[in-house]
Amino acid sequence: MQLKDIPGQEKVKSKLLRAVKEQRVSHTQLFLGAEGTNKLALAIAYAQYVNCKNRSEDDSCGVCPSCVKYQKLAHPDLHFLYPISNRKDLSNAVCADYIREWRELLLEKRELINLDDWHHKINLESKKTIINARDCNNIIQKLSLKSFESEYRVVIIWMVERLFYSAAPKLLKILEEPPEKTLFLLVAENQDLILNTIKSRTQLVKVLPYPQNELKDILVAQYGVSSEKANAIAIRAEGNLRKAIVLAMQDDFGAENFILFRSWLRGCFKASITEINHAITQFSSGNREQTIRFLHYAQELIRDAMLVNRGAQELTFRTGEEQEFLQNVAPYIHPDVLPGFYEQLNEAIFQIGRYGNVNIILTDLSFKMSNFLHTPKRNT
Ligand SMILES: [Zn+2]
Repeated sequence: MQLKDIPGQEKVKSKLLRAVKEQRVSHTQLFLGAEGTNKLALAIAYAQYVNCKNRSEDDSCGVCPSCVKYQKLAHPDLHFLYPISNRKDLSNAVCADYIREWRELLLEKRELINLDDWHHKINLESKKTIINARDCNNIIQKLSLKSFESEYRVVIIWMVERLFYSAAPKLLKILEEPPEKTLFLLVAENQDLILNTIKSRTQLVKVLPYPQNELKDILVAQYGVSSEKANAIAIRAEGNLRKAIVLAMQDDFGAENFILFRSWLRGCFKASITEINHAITQFSSGNREQTIRFLHYAQELIRDAMLVNRGAQELTFRTGEEQEFLQNVAPYIHPDVLPGFYEQLNEAIFQIGRYGNVNIILTDLSFKMSNFLHTPKRNT
């Protein structure tokens, strides 16, 4: 990825470029920013820039052998650490076991990902992933080899707040005595969860949320969203470009499927098998991905109904029929049942992603939804 491929974030880019120009490249940097700020993409583009054989003042060339390998995320001197976990089919897992999925996801999402995307990609939605000690050992071993082809070897550690306690001393040791010509680029969202000993050894690169007008412009210019719609989405996305893109896609989807959601929920409310079946048949008629997207949309609407229930209608940015519908269902989506709705929808999304039987999962989900809709609010 070249710097120009990353929308916005001009301040960070020029700060990074200036450091290279003035030969002040710090060996350990922490790219810290909220979700959807493109900090991972910035770290990778920066590493590509530093190693480009023909870089200009403001970007890598994109065509030299180093850039070409970087753009495939397959440069032999570019190493990644990311949170993983064992899977049924995989014990003693290491990052290398997931490298194909990692590259695929990054290339597909233009490096703008969050942990949910990653867990979904590697089918580990219900498990807690960590950066483990085995991977830290592997990196130490790789870096002990003297020969390498690029100017700098680069280790990018994504979501360093997930560093497991037994892995921390290993990473610390290597950050304290970094091998020559090696850059460590740590990427994180929550600085409170990063060990102080690690933070104190890094130079901070703060990546700020996108300003609202910038988000709007990106949606219009790069995603073909109308100006009015882009504005509404930019307000809801709260500086998170990933969320803005998801909303832009869901919004189209939502317009088509709102009626379907409404009839499904009505069926659930009446516990009418006929109506539930009718709705399920329709929204599971496409592929699994489409059904999952529908369920994500359902989650959004349930969340918005909850906001209406709590008197925060203005935060939903829904209009017309959607707004009217939310008013009607809001009394049933109260704080006692919201976690249940979320959990059951998440479970269904997970099971469908794992190739469970879609019809059984959705029927089961519908009856659970029905129960929640009839659970009275506790008098507290
Ligand atoms: Zn180049």
